[in-house]
Amino acid sequence: MQLVFATNNPNKLKEVQSLIPDHIKLLSLKDIDCFEDIPETQPSIEGNAIQKAEYIKTNYGYDCFADDTGLEVDALNGEPGVFSARYAGERRNANDNMDLLLRNLKDSDDRRAQFKTVVALHLNDKLETFTGICKGEITTKKHGEKGFGYDPIFKPNGYDDTFAEMDLALKNKIGHRGKAVMQLVAFLNAL
Ligand code: IMP
Repeated sequence: MQLVFATNNPNKLKEVQSLIPDHIKLLSLKDIDCFEDIPETQPSIEGNAIQKAEYIKTNYGYDCFADDTGLEVDALNGEPGVFSARYAGERRNANDNMDLLLRNLKDSDDRRAQFKTVVALHLNDKLETFTGICKGEITTKKHGEKGFGYDPIFKPNGYDDTFAEMDLALKNKIGHRGKAVMQLVAFLNAL
């Protein structure tokens, strides 16, 4: 079986590649000559994941899965959520996004947050979704160099390190995307 993973993010590709069993050939957008920005214009994380998977199926004809992720902060009523990528503006800069989040939480003792990933799979003209959640808290400063996005300021519950201080294998095991992708893998293995 071959499946496209609809992402332009090399970090996500690396994370997901290590979780997908060998009998599934994972194709990147580059492999199918897709170099355009895939629209993500829906008002929810789930809606965006579905939109991306359907876009590839419709325009390129491949069975495909896509993920969309948001960081939901309790004290900010679930923000930045679906706006996580462009929280600090259209430049979509991770440092700017983290700085804005730290500023907005400056006076808050409630640091609780969760990452939520929805993976949408478009396979044999059917659509399935898988959701992974990782609960944790927002630190007061950035720690660590690994990972991407908000990783330096997110500390999962039960751990002393941020995602950016962890090895990829541990992040994948306890993280939002890993949890969603493992459900996808179980679904594919049961076919
Ligand atoms: P998207 O799923 O690529 O739309 O991600 C939305 C935003 O969340 C972007 O700013 C990403 O950098 C960030 N993000 C997605 N996944 C992760 C993650 O695993 N760790 C930290 N930030 C993430």
